[in-house]
Amino acid sequence: MKIWFNGQLVEQQDAKLSIYDHGALYGDGVFEGIRAYGGKIFQCDAHLDRLMTSAREIRLEVPYSKAELTDAMYDCMGANGQTDIYIRLVVTRGDGGLGLNPFKCSKPNVFIVADNIELYDPELYTNGMPVIICKTVRTSATMLSPKVKSLNYLNNIAAKIEGLDAGVQEVLMLNSEGNLAEGSGDNIFIVQDGQIVTPPESAGILMGITRGVIMHLARKMDIPVSQRDITPQQLFDADECFLTGTAAEVIPIVSVDGKPIANAKPGKISLELVNAFREFVTIGEEVPYDG
Ligand code: PLP
Repeated sequence: MKIWFNGQLVEQQDAKLSIYDHGALYGDGVFEGIRAYGGKIFQCDAHLDRLMTSAREIRLEVPYSKAELTDAMYDCMGANGQTDIYIRLVVTRGDGGLGLNPFKCSKPNVFIVADNIELYDPELYTNGMPVIICKTVRTSATMLSPKVKSLNYLNNIAAKIEGLDAGVQEVLMLNSEGNLAEGSGDNIFIVQDGQIVTPPESAGILMGITRGVIMHLARKMDIPVSQRDITPQQLFDADECFLTGTAAEVIPIVSVDGKPIANAKPGKISLELVNAFREFVTIGEEVPYDG
């Protein structure tokens, strides 16, 4: 497996970060999870825009342009003979001494891994997935801007552990207001009276790129879209529910905390959007990032 590491394609065993990299010491850095379908990077511009925004928010200077990073991702895929793959693009703060000061770090390290990812069992995409609402509260926007897709995922990992302990593969996280925020690695939608509803940015969510694509597809399919707060009760009363994310793609949710959503089967609109998404990824149209 070839890794793109600071401008070079190297063997996996030769791609090495220092233990003094603040990415390793403090989770100080940013990243993107991206997919390629049929040899084309999906929503490439949107992912790179989000990466640059994440970096800017934490005053991290990415030492490559968007065009250079795009070429690097294609080079990495090409070197491994991949066309349909998950790409992880990471920018760490770089080597520094012990102590938080990010400005003492020499230069950021940038690496790209292109590999397979399987978040959830494949049968759950057909039969729907059970989830729980976890107790771990989503980091609020006043603690860390949700615009930063940072290397520090402990809030999400704590949530994921709760889910795994409860025997489910994904959880729903509430924000400090008690409204739904998102999954540990995906965004949430409910369907109510023919309308799809998803929490707004102010709920403290990552503005998912798949979320944006799904809203774009829904509008094209004349399905009304609303971004507003969703209470747990509104989720239990929903007609349908599904999650979206680059790694997860689009997956129907059929029960929450052991209680069925409607008839505990993937809903009609959810499945229409799953199919529309599968078709859309083969077209390669870019949807502007609205985060
Ligand atoms: N929310 C969180 C916390 C995530 O980690 C992700 C995945 O990156 C998402 C939502 C979905 O975002 P996207 O569709 O851009 O992958």
